[in-house]
Amino acid sequence: MIVDRLGRKFSNLRVSLTAACNYACSYCVPDGKRLMKAHNELSAPRLLKAVELLQQATGIDKVRITGGEPLVTPKFDDFLLGVMSIGLSDVSLTTNGQLIMSKKDVIAESGLKRMNISLDTLNPLRFKQIARGGDLATVLKGIDAMLELGIKLKINMVPMRSQNYSDILSMLDFCFERGIELRYIELMRMGHLLGSKGFQADFVSMESLLDEIGKKYEFSRTDAPYDSTAARFYVADYGNFGIIANESEPFCRTCTRLRLSSDGYLYGCLSSANRQDISGILELPRHLALPKLQGLLVNALGDKKLAFQGEVTVMKFIGG
Ligand code: SAM
Repeated sequence: MIVDRLGRKFSNLRVSLTAACNYACSYCVPDGKRLMKAHNELSAPRLLKAVELLQQATGIDKVRITGGEPLVTPKFDDFLLGVMSIGLSDVSLTTNGQLIMSKKDVIAESGLKRMNISLDTLNPLRFKQIARGGDLATVLKGIDAMLELGIKLKINMVPMRSQNYSDILSMLDFCFERGIELRYIELMRMGHLLGSKGFQADFVSMESLLDEIGKKYEFSRTDAPYDSTAARFYVADYGNFGIIANESEPFCRTCTRLRLSSDGYLYGCLSSANRQDISGILELPRHLALPKLQGLLVNALGDKKLAFQGEVTVMKFIGG
């Protein structure tokens, strides 16, 4: 087990299947241009090999499939079915939900139990302005389909003052009505937002969010797992919601996350551009691959910061 002086170890792996995305969210890309896949993206079998080696090298037992947008790549089906058969304690998926209907059968076949769907508004026009791709009705249909399959859903919403502040309560109503846990994600200083005036103007703090929610609901804070990124709240008779308060209440000191990019780099920290290339290791026999991988993991753990400082690297490269 590789552990740092704060007791942090890697137990959660986020695998970005592709850097490509069918959205161009205003907080993720600056110019509205859709993101393309990276050069030399790894195939599903090589990504699965990486997951297995990481499981053996560090004891990782939770994997989240992400991107880019994981549903746009043809390797999604093979990767999902493969990763579900590795014997991990938890597999989840983060998607914008636009292509869910075309993946419904493979999702059902895989036995996947948990999914996060990113949705920032329930207003179709505002949806177009923020996501700059896809359409709201398709996502809503996908949400219904996943609920019908019995998948435990969370919805990720990034509240922004100038764009979807008025959706804060309506999104919570929508989620409570459907037994979905809403996760508000504080806007993060990633990519073009780092050092920008737009970030300061749009940022909605945990305190402001709770003030807004308190206008309609009475809530109390509940326990969250030790290494959870979200502060969790309970509303009697309705359910839970969470806030990923990256700025207001940073969780870096208990972070257990490791990211694998679609082109084979490990990132130990979302707030660091440092990365470790593992693509060369994947062809080696296990007894040679594991010690090399452990060396790279020590470096990746050393990259973990004590507080989020922002990062110019766009989240799509390293998986949200
Ligand atoms: N395409 C998938 C999706 O939309 O869920 C997975 C990748 S996306 C990068 C993962 C999550 O990161 C989304 O919920 C998105 O809203 C969030 N995200 C991206 N950039 C962000 C930023 N600057 N601040 C906060 N959240 C961000």
